[in-house]
Amino acid sequence: MAAQKTVDHKYVYDFSEGNKDLKDLLGGKGANLAEMTNLGLPVPPGFTITTEACQAYLATGREPDGLAGQIETHLESLERAMGKRLGDPQDPLLVSVRSGAKFSMPGMMETVLNVGLNDQSVVGLSAQAGGSGGQAASGGADRFAWDSYRRLIQMFGKTVCDVPGEEFEHALDQAKSAKGTHNDLDLDADDLRGLVDAYKKIFLKHTGREFPQQPREQLDLAIRAVFESWNAERAVLYRRQERIPADLGTAVNVVTMVFGNLGPDSGTGVAFTRDPASGAQGIYGDYLANAQGEDVVAGIRNTVPLQELAQLDRTSYDELLSIMARLEAHYRDLCDIEFTIERGKLWMLQTRVGKRTAAAAFVIAGQLVDEGLIDLDEALHRVNGAQLAQLMFPRFQLDHEFQPVATGIGASPGAASGTVVFTSARAVELAAEGKSVILVRRETNPDDLNGMIAAKGILTSRGGKTSHAAVVARGMGKTCVSGADDIEVNVPAKRLTVAGQTVDEGDVVSIDGTTGKVYLGEVPVRPSEVVQYFEGSLDPEHIDNALVRAVHRIMTHADGKRRLAVRTNADTGADAARARRFGAEGIGLCRTEHMFLGDRRELVERLILSRAADEREAALEALLPLQRADFVEIFREMDGLPVTVRLIDPPLHEFLPPLEQLAVNVAVAQERGEDVAKEEALLAAVRRMHEENPMLGLRGVRLGLVIPGLFAMQVRAIAEAAVSCARGGGVAKPEIMVPLVGAVQELETVRAEAEKIIAEVVGDSGVEVLIGTMIEVPRAALTAGQIAEAAQFFSFGTNDLTQMGWGFSRDDVEGAFFWRYLELGIFGISPFESIDRDGVGRLVRIAAEEGRAARPGLKLGVCGEHGGDPDSVHFFHEVGLDYVSCSPFRVPVARLEAGRAVVETDGSDSR
Ligand code: ADP
Ligand code: MG
Ligand code: MG
Repeated sequence: MAAQKTVDHKYVYDFSEGNKDLKDLLGGKGANLAEMTNLGLPVPPGFTITTEACQAYLATGREPDGLAGQIETHLESLERAMGKRLGDPQDPLLVSVRSGAKFSMPGMMETVLNVGLNDQSVVGLSAQAGGSGGQAASGGADRFAWDSYRRLIQMFGKTVCDVPGEEFEHALDQAKSAKGTHNDLDLDADDLRGLVDAYKKIFLKHTGREFPQQPREQLDLAIRAVFESWNAERAVLYRRQERIPADLGTAVNVVTMVFGNLGPDSGTGVAFTRDPASGAQGIYGDYLANAQGEDVVAGIRNTVPLQELAQLDRTSYDELLSIMARLEAHYRDLCDIEFTIERGKLWMLQTRVGKRTAAAAFVIAGQLVDEGLIDLDEALHRVNGAQLAQLMFPRFQLDHEFQPVATGIGASPGAASGTVVFTSARAVELAAEGKSVILVRRETNPDDLNGMIAAKGILTSRGGKTSHAAVVARGMGKTCVSGADDIEVNVPAKRLTVAGQTVDEGDVVSIDGTTGKVYLGEVPVRPSEVVQYFEGSLDPEHIDNALVRAVHRIMTHADGKRRLAVRTNADTGADAARARRFGAEGIGLCRTEHMFLGDRRELVERLILSRAADEREAALEALLPLQRADFVEIFREMDGLPVTVRLIDPPLHEFLPPLEQLAVNVAVAQERGEDVAKEEALLAAVRRMHEENPMLGLRGVRLGLVIPGLFAMQVRAIAEAAVSCARGGGVAKPEIMVPLVGAVQELETVRAEAEKIIAEVVGDSGVEVLIGTMIEVPRAALTAGQIAEAAQFFSFGTNDLTQMGWGFSRDDVEGAFFWRYLELGIFGISPFESIDRDGVGRLVRIAAEEGRAARPGLKLGVCGEHGGDPDSVHFFHEVGLDYVSCSPFRVPVARLEAGRAVVETDGSDSR
């Protein structure tokens, strides 16, 4: 990265030379200091050493050629401008040395203030402060100078030389208690002089050297420490988490010191131009008189609300307000600032576009449109799907003292309280009585689906973010904490134990799917207003709720902009109805496997066990009306909109009891001398159907080709349901989707049979049924041109495509090695969460292009979990798909992101 630079390469920029768009080179802090300087705002003069200098230093372990000379030149011109010399014994120029990367990064070196002070210049500083009059009497000036010096040793010791900060804190506390005070302002000049001695001893003890007295050495060591802090452990960790590239490096700002600790007419503060929590208009900030730098946020003394500065110093207050208004108009966004007042003179020390909550992001974007500062496209650009998703979850009101008893993985966000149940059946029972239930399992399996649907939340003691529980819960938008391994689950005893306490069925727990925390008892929950709005129960035109109105406005704009349609994954009428209220424009994936579960298990067992054709046909015939009724309900809810129904996909043994359980049943029954014929038959079937790799085994289209009549029954149920809707005056638009196709011949075979049935059922009802396929096997993607000849649409099943494209089993890999891959940076993010553009994404691209080449206008959609992932939605927009399909809860997120994909300009670094 650090390319060879010539000797005269520019490594240092005066503040007057930079601007806000040079964040890559000058870091955020430096670029914005330059911007303010050029706006004519009162910024103390200074210069910025570039990130390139840092990169070069880190690559070679020494300052690049030319850097020292350039620092010298800029320092000299700073000294000329200020009429002072760095560390001059009579009248010292002092500077701060501040790190500042492109992205603000806690974990890097903090700032060193008052660089240039030593045993001589501290006397000069005092003389100057006293001599220049003002409110500080000469005793005050002395105090100020020694206070500044002790701060330098403390900050320099801690951040440049790794002296443990507590030692300084401790010495400070001792000085205060010797004086019988808690307030650092009660320490006078003598106390502080004593403290400086104590600090120097601490410095010597830990570094083996005296505190450096040479001002230029102080400066160089501080600059070097900033460079090196880029690779400090905390910084590296933070970068990994936030996916900030490791090679950016940090800039270093050298800024003339201004003093907020010169007496009561001085002080320092921080402020936001709007409330960063709610987005409300107005000034929000804190001010602390007679203080320096970090004192405001360190909570040493009580700060006052910024408004009180109006009483203390009206002129500075008015100037500050007008500067803040100017910054907002200039940056066209919420800004946060740091400022210092030195004897009635205001100085700006920092500004940046401020961080905000998800709610504030929407509210502020809406306000800025009203104020004419940005247009709606820009407003859309300023918010994102992750923020919207956050606003859609109910939240716990944790103002009371609730202590978590366990912490697992926040697998699916939200907040849920309810009665504990340990089985799916019990969950269904209690939910039917109107109770909120939390389904607690060691881990869930497909059999728990009904219980998961009935439950308010799901808690497991095993499994990670891609466990069955996590994935299914996310799909349903249901709160889930997984892998809370401090919890001992005892299903037969209907009891769990945690932190020495036992919780029985019927007791209440609360789970937070965002933080992974588990609480005993009921924590009150606040529902999401944004969801109420999407559900239609809050009318944005008629309520006084800034958030809902902003969301409404931005969503409406996104809908007007987007090219991608948004459908939903829904298997039931209720899900379909909800998704439709959330704006779904059809169903992109209706799974049919739940139609084989619950009380239909009997029939499915009969189907699987049947030896003779007539037994099998009888079972299928009994299933037909049940499935038809399911489809009727879904078509009715999606009246007029397309519904893609996937024929049965999972391996059949998933519909049978597990092998171990059957083996035990048979043994026990035999022991008791009971009739075990049926159990034995089931056991034999399960043994026969056992597969080493079921996900790559007899499933999907393969089942349809092996089990006569199975797909035919489903096709008939779909067609009959559509016809019955049409007869009732509705419009059903079924699209039959064949899963797991890898070769066109598979599809052709299924299609030939299906078309015959459809023709026969549909007759002259006017119903049109499309037949298409999933593209989820890599071979299908690579032969898409052939497959398109037989398919009226493609739907990318990106879960399987990822699984088979990478060759790893989704159910197994996360716990096994994903953590390591994330650690090594092989993945930035799990490829199941966000589509792997280079590999799996390439398969999608190839299939889309070759499919459309073979059949122009081929309808293309995606129905994996990626359909609701913001980054993936942008990719699908780019590739030219017609729609994405996602869980009902993600529909608004996908709508928003599909709109953003259209207005997104390249090179945005909204993070
Ligand atoms: P951070 O990035 O942690 O906020 P800063 O570099 O902004 O670190 O500095 C920490 C504190 O020191 C801030 O309160 C800032 O306003 C103050 N500060 C930095 N440089 C100066 C300076 N030249 N004069 C006075 N105060 C300063
Ligand atoms: Mg700062
Ligand atoms: Mg699949």
